[in-house]
Amino acid sequence: MNNLPFNQPGRFWRGNLHTHSTLSDGRATPEEACAFYRENGYDFLALTEHFLSHYDYPIADTRPFRTDDFTTLLGAELHTGATELGDLWHILAVGLPLDFAPPVDDETGPAIAARAMAAGAYVAVAHPAWYTLSEADVLRLGPVHAIEIYNGVSDSYNDRPDSWHTADVLLSRGHRYTTCATDDAHFHPDRHDTLRGWVMVKSEALTPEALLSALKAGHYYSSTGPKIFDIQVEPGKRG
Ligand SMILES: [Zn+2]
Ligand SMILES: [Zn+2]
Repeated sequence: MNNLPFNQPGRFWRGNLHTHSTLSDGRATPEEACAFYRENGYDFLALTEHFLSHYDYPIADTRPFRTDDFTTLLGAELHTGATELGDLWHILAVGLPLDFAPPVDDETGPAIAARAMAAGAYVAVAHPAWYTLSEADVLRLGPVHAIEIYNGVSDSYNDRPDSWHTADVLLSRGHRYTTCATDDAHFHPDRHDTLRGWVMVKSEALTPEALLSALKAGHYYSSTGPKIFDIQVEPGKRG
């Protein structure tokens, strides 16, 4: 229990880890997206554009939109290879370098996830329920950090924003992932995809480095509304 965010020094910072701007298929510019989240009480944002050739493999440089009370993490939603059911992989990578290389022709999902982790990123399995990712798929990705257990925009597509089942099955088998809630915001007027799910990261400083380190260490919780102040586990008791 010592690894829980509540036991770490510092304070909680609220952030959205999954966002698309006009650099891929979102409607807000990077500057507008950052301003929207800052004005809605968030402390940080990651723009995670679709890392695809027809968008010219964007890694949004949001550094100009950082202020004293708002920061950004650099990242992307990585797509390559094929899942068990033949879909293109969706892999969330936050904390990428601006020069992260595009996938080569036959790079698999697990290979690009490993490459993102080696580059220092926090890597999460994006919206497994939305696109019917199998548990075998998640395991094939290897030791990624997290499973995205809430994805706001999925609600507008097939009513599958909640991926807790996948996480619960794998956690019950002894695999260890943390879990993140995100908006996957695209800012389309016909979709309710902002201010839906977020992470609360505990760290001593509001810097990209401190936030990324805390995310990778699991020093955060996720929410779609409630604030959580502490969790107690009593040995021998089951809820
Ligand atoms: Zn996606
Ligand atoms: Zn997305």
